[in-house]
Amino acid sequence: MTMATLVVVGTQWGDEGKGKIVHLLSRRADYIVRYQGGNNAGHTVLADGKRFILHLIPSGVLHPGKRVVIGNGVVVDPWALEEEIRSLRRYGIRVEGRLHLSLAAHVVLPYHRLLDQLREEGTEKLGTTRKGIGPAYADKASRLGVRVADYLEPDGFREILKKNLVQKRFTFKSFGSPRSAGRKSLESYPRLRRLLKRYACDTSLLLNQAVRDGKRVLFEGAQGTFLDLDHGTYPYVTSSNPTAGGASTGTGVGPGWIREVLGVMKAYTTRVGTGPFPTEMPPALAECLRKKGQEYGATTGRPRRMGWLDLVLLRKAVQINGIRRLALTKLDVLSGVSPLRVAVAYRIRGRRTDWFPISRLEQSAAEPIYEDLPGFDSDLRQFRKIDQWPRQARDYVRWMEKFLGVSIAIVSVGPRAEETLVLDKKFDWI
Ligand code: GDP
Repeated sequence: MTMATLVVVGTQWGDEGKGKIVHLLSRRADYIVRYQGGNNAGHTVLADGKRFILHLIPSGVLHPGKRVVIGNGVVVDPWALEEEIRSLRRYGIRVEGRLHLSLAAHVVLPYHRLLDQLREEGTEKLGTTRKGIGPAYADKASRLGVRVADYLEPDGFREILKKNLVQKRFTFKSFGSPRSAGRKSLESYPRLRRLLKRYACDTSLLLNQAVRDGKRVLFEGAQGTFLDLDHGTYPYVTSSNPTAGGASTGTGVGPGWIREVLGVMKAYTTRVGTGPFPTEMPPALAECLRKKGQEYGATTGRPRRMGWLDLVLLRKAVQINGIRRLALTKLDVLSGVSPLRVAVAYRIRGRRTDWFPISRLEQSAAEPIYEDLPGFDSDLRQFRKIDQWPRQARDYVRWMEKFLGVSIAIVSVGPRAEETLVLDKKFDWI
């Protein structure tokens, strides 16, 4: 039996341009699946000359006829889902019959949002999107969460909600009554329940059947490797597992059925929110590159922190995700920058290391050791073949492949589909 499953993961701190890559690869997929995160993610996709920002529903939905799945590892805000379905409808895109929502996914309720806001306004600020994703995952791990299946059962849902709010009464006391939090959670309940019911099913059953039938299934990660709850720069991480293993736990498709992992890497590094960032650039250069690369959050509009390419991060991302092919994005943004600095190792308290440290103190103390590669000037967007590129740009790509020991299968040099070069003809997803 041929397995045609592919996981696409971000190799840095998210915002690698996965949206565009996933959108391109979705053309050859039958199913496109989200396996973690919630509507804190944001993919910007250009399709038919229109700009779409999707937060919860896989961008594959923009291709007519494709099936899209929100897996059990995702947390779903019913209000956000409703809004996204509505906004797609405004563009004439209908999801009925092709959107499937896992009965085992957890539901984000208004008090999760409130708890998120409270934390962000306090001293333990993480720089989250304040959409309640973290608190919803916390409830999931505390066995207090509401799954879609629970939400669909009115009596059961009210019962769980009550228990949950009793447990949180001390937190709520300071800003209102648990009763008002409960009231908010029940607002529009009948309508939202009907909405979720329309799409809910056992998606693991659906996906395993699809894999067995030889269908092409694309799993898209949100956020990135270094925002992973287990492998990222803890505690400045997201509350789920964007790394490739999350595709199995977050969908119920076993690791044995996953054929390949594609890593998406941006030609430089960005991060949003607080936390260590060894290759962060000085403000003037950061500002210039931010404008050129349009590095502002898709969900919040926040300016992103900017840094040089960090191969210490990449080395680890390649290993823990099992990446054998990479898609390099936004190389066009680096034109005119010379030299091109890349971090190849760190110095931590006087000692050189090649490996990304786990200690948070060491992560903050890490000073990058750079290699400078020659830059290029021409606008890469005008070329359709790598042979037409300036030699320095070609060398940059080859140098990186050699350093990481992984093939760069795709290079993206602009937001549009045509601004994509396929370097590995054996890669059968594009
Ligand atoms: P994602 O969540 O990983 O997709 O990242 P973003 O939401 O930050 O999307 C990346 C942004 O960059 C979008 O506006 C894309 O249209 C744009 N983009 C994607 N690839 C490229 C590229 O190769 N070059 C340029 N200049 N822009 C790109």
